[in-house]
Amino acid sequence: MAGILDYKTALEVLNSEYKTRDGIDVITLMDSVTRGGLTYNDFLILPGKIDFPSSDVSLETKLTKKITLRAPLVSSPMDTVTESEMAIHMALLGGIGIIQHNCSPDDQAEMVRKVKKYENGFISDPIVVAPTQTVGEIKKLKESLGFAGFPVTENGQVPGKLLGIVTSRDIQFHDNNDTPVSEIMTTDLVTASGNVDLLEANEVLRKSKKGKLPIVDAESNLVALLSRTDLQKNHNYPNASKSKDKQLLCGAAIGTRPDDRDRLAKLVAAGLDVAVIDSSQGNSVFQIELIKWAKATFPELEVIGGNVVTREQAAELIAAGVDGLRIGMGSGSICITQEVMAVGRPQGTAVYNVTQFAKRFGVPCIADGGIQNIGHITKALALGASAVMMGGLLAGTTESPGKYFYKNGQRLKTYRGMGSIEAMEKQGINDNAATSRYFSESDSVFVAQGVSGSVLDKGSITKFVPYLISGLEHGLQDIGVKSITQFQESVSDGTVRFEFRSTSAQVEGGVHSLHSYEKRLHN
Ligand code: GDP
Ligand code: GDP
Ligand code: 5GP
Repeated sequence: MAGILDYKTALEVLNSEYKTRDGIDVITLMDSVTRGGLTYNDFLILPGKIDFPSSDVSLETKLTKKITLRAPLVSSPMDTVTESEMAIHMALLGGIGIIQHNCSPDDQAEMVRKVKKYENGFISDPIVVAPTQTVGEIKKLKESLGFAGFPVTENGQVPGKLLGIVTSRDIQFHDNNDTPVSEIMTTDLVTASGNVDLLEANEVLRKSKKGKLPIVDAESNLVALLSRTDLQKNHNYPNASKSKDKQLLCGAAIGTRPDDRDRLAKLVAAGLDVAVIDSSQGNSVFQIELIKWAKATFPELEVIGGNVVTREQAAELIAAGVDGLRIGMGSGSICITQEVMAVGRPQGTAVYNVTQFAKRFGVPCIADGGIQNIGHITKALALGASAVMMGGLLAGTTESPGKYFYKNGQRLKTYRGMGSIEAMEKQGINDNAATSRYFSESDSVFVAQGVSGSVLDKGSITKFVPYLISGLEHGLQDIGVKSITQFQESVSDGTVRFEFRSTSAQVEGGVHSLHSYEKRLHN
């Protein structure tokens, strides 16, 4: 047949006759001068070539200049999303949680402490007891701390001469609460010397088949403790986000009021790794001054600034010294800022413009708000975000704060914007994270920038987050890239291609033409 080429030459013809790849590059896609701003739903990514299994995909990414995560997932500092349970499980699963601050500084610091204490390598400041303390006291300690393996030292302190250990089993069936610890403690201890490294100590612990391994110095003083539970936790969650001392990474939000400096000092004392300065419009003198102060006062602390949606805002915070940026204004599911304030930016365009500027200074960016599904995460990464922050997607899970309730036979939890009247009315106005986030603490009339609503029970994030991770791995596999780094490089050099998505294309891409269906996202 005339004009038909030999099929074997398809690749040669493609490479020799077509100057560019199919679809458009990211610059053409994001040219907002002609198109206006884009949201995640306005475009698609074209598929590449699959020559590797999805299990080969690495989702390792930078949260800040110094912190690396194995999954690009962050839970939002909202009072219906992140307290210690959420932060613990986000970190165990490879992401990180940012503890909300619509509470007293002490309560927030306690939540940070709980996350940092959850898992350890060497426990360098273990809770210990004196031999004269009673079984009743041990039971109380167990109730308040959640664990009951207490080394007994002569002076009841660390360091102190190690005499024995009391554990749950020693007190389990002991009814006399007045018995002193010295009568029930175990004294034939397996210990390790103070100069072992974690690897060796773990080996001793494994072989000893005991629950705890006290570490002692040459004079038999207790200096640290190792817990078998931590070996199990490490085994169960190999991708957990941890600091060098093997404690889970924890973030927390603060506002930009003068009092927030005292709050931050308490959070740092509790072991905080990263502070997120929580403001709906990050480019303020309050925030700039706070960033400079925080970086000078706590040089080890990573500081994320925001929120920003333009490179002009970003430049101010980068110049002040931030280690990361949070991008988004008005894109959140509970948010009415764009309606009420007339300011904001479509999230796709905001993410692209800020990340392209920030990457020149090595500042990683979090795309915050508007993430409704796995595809949106992949698109945020494509546009240069290092991680995404989620509120609504993680609300309604077992680990989110609040109790489930029933309405019309459905199991629900409250999810509310931090700029909703309900959140702003919590506590006194001056002590309120929500009013400060929206610069409303001195207003007599609150102008809401968010709503309060409810979301369906999503089960535990220990199922939901692995679903997000697996979905992301498959998405990157379809695009033909093996890592987030390779993905972003391939977007920049024009190898990864895009297509605009018309309104009818969006309808076509959703479920359609069915009489009825049930949307089950994972098993
Ligand atoms: P990993 O990626 O967290 O396992 O970090 P490393 O490879 O540096 O681990 C060094 C040793 O520490 C290995 O024997 C790990 O099993 C062990 N390890 C890691 N995390 C923990 C932990 O939380 N507690 C204890 N006790 N050991 C841990
Ligand atoms: P226990 O056997 O009753 O002590 O409790 P678990 O087996 O559940 O382990 C205690 C958990 O709490 C481990 O993950 C520890 O790392 C953590 N932890 C944090 N601080 C301390 C502490 O001071 N003492 C003990 N025993 N555990 C601690
Ligand atoms: P979502 O993941 O639910 O789409 O959005 C969560 C994000 O919305 C949060 O991380 C935060 O940046 C933003 N947000 C939270 N509460 C409010 C609010 O009341 N108003 C506005 N404008 N944004 C909010």
